[in-house]
Amino acid sequence: MLNLDFHPSGRHLLQIPGPSPVPDRILRAISLPTIDHRGPEFAALGLKLLADIKKIFKTRHPVIIYPATGTGAWEAALSNTLSPGDHVLMYETGHFAWLWVKMATRLGLAPEVLTWQGADEVLPGVAGWRHGVQAELIEHRLRQDIDHRIKAVCVVHNETSTGATSDIAAVRRAIDAARHPALLLVDSISGLASADYRHDEWGVDVTVSGSQKGLMLPPGISFNAVSPKALEAMKQAKLPRSCLAWDEIIAMNADGYWPYTPNTNLLYGLAESLDMLQSEGLDNVFARHQRWAAGVRAAVRAWGLPIQCADPAVYSPVLTGVITPPDIDADAVRRLIYERFDMSLGTGLGKVKGRMFRIGHLGNSNDLTVLATLMGCEIGLKLSGIKLAASGVQVAMEYFASQPAGVGTNKAPPGGHTQIAA
Ligand SMILES: *Cc1c(COP(=O)(O)O)cnc(C)c1O
Repeated sequence: MLNLDFHPSGRHLLQIPGPSPVPDRILRAISLPTIDHRGPEFAALGLKLLADIKKIFKTRHPVIIYPATGTGAWEAALSNTLSPGDHVLMYETGHFAWLWVKMATRLGLAPEVLTWQGADEVLPGVAGWRHGVQAELIEHRLRQDIDHRIKAVCVVHNETSTGATSDIAAVRRAIDAARHPALLLVDSISGLASADYRHDEWGVDVTVSGSQKGLMLPPGISFNAVSPKALEAMKQAKLPRSCLAWDEIIAMNADGYWPYTPNTNLLYGLAESLDMLQSEGLDNVFARHQRWAAGVRAAVRAWGLPIQCADPAVYSPVLTGVITPPDIDADAVRRLIYERFDMSLGTGLGKVKGRMFRIGHLGNSNDLTVLATLMGCEIGLKLSGIKLAASGVQVAMEYFASQPAGVGTNKAPPGGHTQIAA
């Protein structure tokens, strides 16, 4: 039964930083009949996926695919490599980094949390949520850890709650400079397939990712890319694990199967997503995200509102956080835009709830959907009583007009595709 309240006319603009809009081509792939997950067709699909997903992580080593959300893959990363009571050095860049700390505590690990310590006039008390990881803080702490009690360093690549993308190669260099054996565990749930990411080259031991952000799939599958050093650590790791244990999954994956029923239809979607990303080329994918992000930031600056990420060196290509004036509830602005214009924006999470909203500009978009998003924001901000310095939409239009699109932007891949961008 169609509920018209949930299905008004036209396309809903789903501009949250995950789940991102799912391309029609992927929705169609998911709608095909479910097959026998122990049959020969499934094995062919499984082997192809397990090979192709490595190209997205830029790794030669195993990538494990779970029928779980990103949070499940976080748990797998910790429980497959660590033992009860292990010290882990975690870096708080925002809400998602903080949730990972909370999980580590619940699993019986001993997390120690670093964060950026500078002053901040716009959001006093949450300065750390306006910056990326300062690798030198990690190096300094690891140098003090002479008897190597710290077993892992955990950082978030693209902090989805703030819009800051940390320099993972710099974290690797910091660990190496301190000559410390800790594992490097990275959450790139919202970075993968939107922002440059290189599991092997950056010396990451476990990369955690998920389906519903840059991979443009519905939520429900997640990933661990695993280095040989992480596989070695697994042999000593004593945290309990069963459903998400690497050893059994890797053993069954050799023939293209899983130890249990994987989410067959989402895997059809993943195959489609990997084809789309590979035919466009990852560099083109990254370039169009950078371009949209620059256009959105130009608009926010024109409005005269502060961007949540205070360090231009780590602006996220995936989303932009917009800080509202102190007397304006950002969630009220979001609600107004949702009710009047049928567009979803990301809420401020945790410590920044009500102070900011997030504009997602990832995945299945184009210049005009990004402009429509900015239009919805601009009208909503005005209707909320905020005096904007100038029209951000006008500035973004000029930006997109003056910047030629990246090679892959809005072009059909060689095989051709028929979807119309949402
Ligand atoms: C979305 C997200 C998560 C949580 O993933 P779920 O699929 O909701 O469990 C964790 N970390 C980051 C950085 C994310 O963007």
